[in-house]
Amino acid sequence: MSRLIVDIGDLVGHPETKRVFSGERQVRLRLGEATVEGPMDVTGVARGTIDGIIAVFTASACAHLTCVRCLTEWDAVIVTEGSQHYSRTPDEDGYAIEDGRIDVSGPATDELALAIPAAPLCRSDCKGLCPICGTDLNSDPCDGHGKESDSPFAVLKDLFDS
Ligand SMILES: [Zn+2]
Ligand SMILES: [Zn+2]
Repeated sequence: MSRLIVDIGDLVGHPETKRVFSGERQVRLRLGEATVEGPMDVTGVARGTIDGIIAVFTASACAHLTCVRCLTEWDAVIVTEGSQHYSRTPDEDGYAIEDGRIDVSGPATDELALAIPAAPLCRSDCKGLCPICGTDLNSDPCDGHGKESDSPFAVLKDLFDS
């Protein structure tokens, strides 16, 4: 049930043939500040080639992202495209035609993992959090503290006070 299996035995060796497929698979991915935990939808077309199958697909899933600067969290739909060639001999990832069928879940999960931003930003110019008080600098300039002790005026203030 966690696999995306397509029957393609009759397509191999017939380059003019194709089969549309779709399905979903539960995935759990964690990359940096991004996680995907839930269904990945996959749709695609498997085409016969002289010696195998080429599967072209679109994979999509909802990712939960955390901005690496301000820690805002949000959900985003990740959509990506990929393709995989299958023959009877496994490729370097171990993908192959087995019993007249291909499993698209592995290549689709690989493509999805590549499409997820490992270091998400809520926006490209996110100002992040104040390192002193933790205020979100996108909504609050936070210019009221911490500068006095670094400022040359702080020395003068001490002189006047004494
Ligand atoms: Zn942010
Ligand atoms: Zn601050």
